[in-house]
Amino acid sequence: MRTDQDPALLQSPIIDRVERVVIVMAMEAEAAPLRDALGAQPLEAPAWANGLPCRLSHAPRSERRPDVVLAVNGTDPIYGVDAVGSTAAALTTHVALNLDRPRPDLVLSVGTAGGWLRAGAGIGDAFLVWPHFACHDRRIPLPGFDVMGDSELPAADLRSHASALGCRLGIVTSGDSFDESPADRERILANGAEVKEMEAAAVAWVGRLHDVPTGALKTITDLVDSPVAAEAQFVENLATAAETLQRKTLALLERLAREDGD
Ligand code: SAH
Repeated sequence: MRTDQDPALLQSPIIDRVERVVIVMAMEAEAAPLRDALGAQPLEAPAWANGLPCRLSHAPRSERRPDVVLAVNGTDPIYGVDAVGSTAAALTTHVALNLDRPRPDLVLSVGTAGGWLRAGAGIGDAFLVWPHFACHDRRIPLPGFDVMGDSELPAADLRSHASALGCRLGIVTSGDSFDESPADRERILANGAEVKEMEAAAVAWVGRLHDVPTGALKTITDLVDSPVAAEAQFVENLATAAETLQRKTLALLERLAREDGD
């Protein structure tokens, strides 16, 4: 990580116990098992968010978990598929952080992701983001803008939960494409990411604007450097990944609700 940035950008708050969490997800197939398991009920979006496709639901705080707002990007009204990617993720996060509700202690970007055989990843592995988020497709070779393009935003420090959850730790890099272009590959080798997806850095950017620490929990659906096409792997592994996400997210929420934090 660079050290010439504003030191405030380098802070990674340690997250032990939280009362309120916002979870942001991109695809309905990823989110449905978690929404069901939480028993989350629909939450109406505010009038100022009219026209945005995001789908909100809410599960109140209990002994086993913090208060949860689940915010899903929803269906693109023009193209009729899940509104994946950074634009919708940023809007969804902004809506979820501006509801007429008490401020959350933590935002979590939860979803599927690609990994690399060269980094020792396997299908079904789960990762918590650490130490930061990054972007690999925002190439702006102008002073200052280059650093903004790299989007190295600090991750909420959830390290103490990783081994209990069976999660690895790694940098999560976001871009608006599913494939990995040669330029992306070069930048990912340079940024050291172990997890590739399309939303987390946008969620973290909005979390940062609102001063809410942001973490990410990602499950690997596809290995980018495998000889099998990543899209085919993704489709084959999506349902299992969604179940894993549901289980690991509930386990993380349970730990975050505990008084003793261990
Ligand atoms: N082709 C898919 C479309 C999903 S787009 C389909 O037919 O349903 C990919 C979604 O999964 C995004 O929300 C992204 O965050 C995540 N994802 C999983 N693997 C990825 C990878 N290798 N690269 C980028 N995003 C990935």
